[in-house]
Amino acid sequence: MKNYYLLMSIAIMQLSCSHIVSSEHRQAKTTAPAQPATELVISTPLTHVSSQTETPKIDTLQIKIVSAPATVQQKDQHQHDHDDSVAPEVGLRYLRNGNIRFVKGYLRNDGASTKDIKRLVAGQHPHTIVVSCSDSRVPPEIIFDEKLGEIFVIRTAGETLDPTSLGSIEYALEHLGTKNIVVLGHTNCGAVKAAYSTLNGQDAGSDNLNKLVQDIHPRIQQFKDKTPSHDYYDEGLANASGVAADLVKRSHIIAEKVEKSGVKITPAIYDLDSGKVTFKSP
Ligand SMILES: [Zn+2]
Repeated sequence: MKNYYLLMSIAIMQLSCSHIVSSEHRQAKTTAPAQPATELVISTPLTHVSSQTETPKIDTLQIKIVSAPATVQQKDQHQHDHDDSVAPEVGLRYLRNGNIRFVKGYLRNDGASTKDIKRLVAGQHPHTIVVSCSDSRVPPEIIFDEKLGEIFVIRTAGETLDPTSLGSIEYALEHLGTKNIVVLGHTNCGAVKAAYSTLNGQDAGSDNLNKLVQDIHPRIQQFKDKTPSHDYYDEGLANASGVAADLVKRSHIIAEKVEKSGVKITPAIYDLDSGKVTFKSP
């Protein structure tokens, strides 16, 4: 009987936690007039029960609830007035909270319904552009627990840049009003490993693969002829940080948006082992 009451109270806490983390995003999408951002930190007990016979383990997750300035969904996505854009620090907070939910197994259940599909027909205003590796283990929408219309994603092996990936970022900055860019590398990245092993001019296997590793080479040059770091963490982070720096060097639109419009670029690295994302200073 005691276990019954414990499980019931856990179920109630789970429901309220799910509601709380989901409301963060709903508040950001309301069409109500913009309100000043407010913060509320709630300590929520979390429970993980993998089977009915297993004893529930309870730990505590600090969830930061942000009442973000509202964004208006009905605007023409090609218009250039984006005063209602989500601020970069708010976009980053969404990603941090989403990754905490992902790691803890507390995924949202809102944001992907028929209603959401219809709501987004009029246009998109993603709060963040994520430039990430194509690795099948690192899908940004899943590891950040983001839903329809929330992040604009560019994926290439090793976050390599070319005119089409740069053009995609420029499009989101110019036409969708997004102000937050995250470059997401990860541990044990195959593309970074391939670049590391061809630093002395070895053939990567094809003309296209040679171009791919050549894009990475300058960002990991400092590791040439050295023993690789554990899980290629340092090399992966150096590559992501290098991509973040290269964005402004290779695109005058991105550079101008950073300089004059408050766009922020943050490198980050995903740990394949823990599922955690660590954000770094630009
Ligand atoms: Zn990778």
